[in-house]
Amino acid sequence: NWEYAPAPESRAIANLKPSYRMFVDGEFVEGAGEPLKSVNPATEEVLAEVSTASSADVDRAVKAARRAHDKTWGRMPGAERAKYIFRIARMIAERARELAVLESLDNGKPIKEARDTDVPTAAAHFFYHAGWADKLDYAGYGPDPRPLGVAGQVIPWNFPLLMAAWKIAPALACGNTVVLKPAETTPLTALVLAEIIQQAELPPGVVNILPGAGDVGAELVNHAGVDKVAFTGSTEVGKIIQSALAGTGKKLTLELGGKAANIVFDDAPLDQAVEGIVNGIFFNQGHVCCAGSRLLVQESIAEELLAKLHARVATLRVGDPLDKNTDVGAINSREQLTKITELVASGEREGAERWTSPCPLPDKGFYFAPTVFANVTQSMRIAREEIFGPVLSVLTFRTPDEALAKANNTPYGLSAGVWTEKGSRILWMADRLRAGVVWANTFNRFDPTAPFGGYQESGFGREGGRAGLEAYLDV
Ligand code: NAD
Repeated sequence: NWEYAPAPESRAIANLKPSYRMFVDGEFVEGAGEPLKSVNPATEEVLAEVSTASSADVDRAVKAARRAHDKTWGRMPGAERAKYIFRIARMIAERARELAVLESLDNGKPIKEARDTDVPTAAAHFFYHAGWADKLDYAGYGPDPRPLGVAGQVIPWNFPLLMAAWKIAPALACGNTVVLKPAETTPLTALVLAEIIQQAELPPGVVNILPGAGDVGAELVNHAGVDKVAFTGSTEVGKIIQSALAGTGKKLTLELGGKAANIVFDDAPLDQAVEGIVNGIFFNQGHVCCAGSRLLVQESIAEELLAKLHARVATLRVGDPLDKNTDVGAINSREQLTKITELVASGEREGAERWTSPCPLPDKGFYFAPTVFANVTQSMRIAREEIFGPVLSVLTFRTPDEALAKANNTPYGLSAGVWTEKGSRILWMADRLRAGVVWANTFNRFDPTAPFGGYQESGFGREGGRAGLEAYLDV
């Protein structure tokens, strides 16, 4: 074990302030809710105090968004909206370093991931959707499509800035206005995005950002002035929102949990597959809705693949999220660490064979060593439940039919991976896998042009691509 303290200059690079306020009607204001403390999960130190919204604040934000929709944004020509959205994209790119360091501090993710994935992909989402704003007639949803009105959006903590971008960019492109609630453990980059939106001179009220816990999210989605709800988070909360909204006439899209199968056939390029498996489950500490958390490997190569996998996982560097060489950072919260620990204990109790990376872990902070379970059966909790941590469950199969049956044996259906040299097998599997995304000989690829979303209890609606616009348009 070792002590880890972030370099003092990281706070300056992240432009970290002692306190942050919420963003309503174009202004940063103190919320009337109980302030929350955002904690650096890598050190357990408080990063900043953040004001939260009361129900009166939610009401004010929704009314501001309504006014902005009716008077400015919803009436503005698409080409004008596009200019603002392009400006946001450029400003994210200009402040990329600051945003990446802040995201890494607040979330615990490795800086190389914040730098190479979160921030550039967030900017890319604004660039992409800016391009749509004046071309909605060609989106395929009929001529002259109209915005829905005020979008109430609630996001999780695993990709704080990127999830905000996935929500805000398409809503704005289609002429909607937004009230967004970031997750309680990671509100900081969404508030810097609010600063960017203010500096980009969007009309007041077009975007409002309200930090707070689940109660603020519930106030927001249930507010009568909200026309459309977009939620990304757990299946449990998604179901609560879906029931609450039944009969209200509000439009709803849900991006929920997953338990993706990463399927490796005996003809797969094994070294490449190992990299894909590692990326699939250890990227972002496994806090990924589409993580390849179930490895399905063909029996004839299982032993060889597992040996290669252990050797590779043992080389992963776990620790200081701000070190450019770190592969696996901190678990986002103590609560999440407890959940992972409990599920891992259940795997051991139920008889799976546990292998843990021998990597040293820092003394303080929330960390979990990369873990691989072999001899997992389909009935075990670690094969059925989303762990949302750096834990892989390995199952085997003999035939493509068996692989397919096991892959689809889940209430989720967000993503899947197929590793094989046979193109025909990729197409056969992709056609039958009940998953919104199927990656072939790769994993965790994201692009704003590609629709992303789930089957079954992973939710409904798509984000990204032309299909993602449908969630924010009325025809
Ligand atoms: P969570 O459901 O606990 O919280 C998500 C958000 O909902 C938070 O902002 C939270 O404050 C808010 N919330 C909680 N209760 C609420 C309520 N009753 N009404 C309205 N809002 C409420 O999920 P989490 O732990 O933050 O995130 C992890 C989950 O998110 C995982 O299940 C993961 O798979 C999922 N996720 C899905 C996608 C996707 O695109 N499908 C992407 C990222 C994360």
